[in-house]
Amino acid sequence: MKSSDYFARARTLIPGGVSSPVRAIAPYPFYTRRASGSRLFTVDDHELIDCCMGYGPLLLGHAHPQIEAAIRRQVGDGWLYGTPTPLEVRFAEMLCRDHPGMDMVRFVSSGSEATMAAIRLARGFSGKKDIVKVEGGFHGAHDSVLVKAGSGATTLGIPDSAGVLPDVASHTLQVPYNDPDALEDLLSRHKDVAAFIIEPVMGNIGPILPQDGYLRDVREITRANDVLLIFDEVICGYRVGIGGAQKRWGVVPDITTLGKIIGGGLPIGAFGGRREIMAMVAPAGPVYNAGTFSGNPLSLAAGIATVEWIHDHPALYRDLGEKTRAIGEAVSDTARGSFVCLGSMFKFFFRNAEPRNYREAKECDTGAFKQFWEKMLASGIFLPPSQFETNFLSVAHTDGDVETISTAYRQCLS
Ligand SMILES: *Cc1c(COP(=O)(O)O)cnc(C)c1O
Repeated sequence: MKSSDYFARARTLIPGGVSSPVRAIAPYPFYTRRASGSRLFTVDDHELIDCCMGYGPLLLGHAHPQIEAAIRRQVGDGWLYGTPTPLEVRFAEMLCRDHPGMDMVRFVSSGSEATMAAIRLARGFSGKKDIVKVEGGFHGAHDSVLVKAGSGATTLGIPDSAGVLPDVASHTLQVPYNDPDALEDLLSRHKDVAAFIIEPVMGNIGPILPQDGYLRDVREITRANDVLLIFDEVICGYRVGIGGAQKRWGVVPDITTLGKIIGGGLPIGAFGGRREIMAMVAPAGPVYNAGTFSGNPLSLAAGIATVEWIHDHPALYRDLGEKTRAIGEAVSDTARGSFVCLGSMFKFFFRNAEPRNYREAKECDTGAFKQFWEKMLASGIFLPPSQFETNFLSVAHTDGDVETISTAYRQCLS
């Protein structure tokens, strides 16, 4: 069966034919049979260089042998106990050691769950009701973060999804990214704010990078206003370096959320923070959090193997940074847009200048992106099918892959 056949069946069984909306590609998405290293192999017998990498988790590439071995070892010992495990103690030590903002950590099963828990924790700890997020910032698919600015650039929360109560959304306020004055102004007018939640690098819209001093300003402003700072490092964690954005920019948040890379490709999330805050989490404290699959042994085994591999190969970050910069150089003479990269994250924006926030990102020519994306796919390169999703390289991408990607970029942009 071909992809088109699978999709025809899927559409009658699964809403929109897909398990997550971004995977819906018109007229039908390709179906993957298997993956290895930097490659996806489709049921239509195409081999693609993958620059999506599961939307971020696969820093070490598909089916990395060391992670595969760790998963196989764990499978032999069973994969769900419903009891504490030595794995969680070990991994908690590793994550708290690497992240300056984490004295304690709680494992959950997805990034969405981590941000949901972190927001409840911030409210429970502070006794305040509102949260502030960044316009266009993505923190998962739960009610209080499925909110962005309305077209009138209002800071009042307007739900982004049917089914989100306006009452809930009204407790989510918005500020533009890279604009410390807007945050300061908002916090001077709203006094019931529990937390400011931010992706230190906007990974779900680009990437859009923090301007010099922005994250430091955010830290000072939140502290001065007695507002907790939540760094949503679900993408940044082990992506921008060991210790994530908090280490890279030297800004310590009160609460950190992690996911993606720390599961090595298996489902995971985690939230952590200062000891006095984390002491509020049940059963130590009154803020409830629980999950049948929280800290599941397979995800932890894969995560530990991943983080160990990273610590054994710290040069990977420099190497991946050189690779994305090489792609950038290949497209530097095209006048059609701007290339942005940070380490292994990169994107070509169909906008004359690099966007600094959501409003600017929305000015991109998404029609041009779609044509470009289709040409890239026809050239054997799978990019995330949205102008607003970050492209990722992994350690499995060879110099040859990078050359192939660069050539395809040049040709498909001309
Ligand atoms: C992917 C992502 C999430 C959601 O994680 P899931 O595991 O998909 O639930 C939350 N925040 C950020 C910054 C993300 O990139």
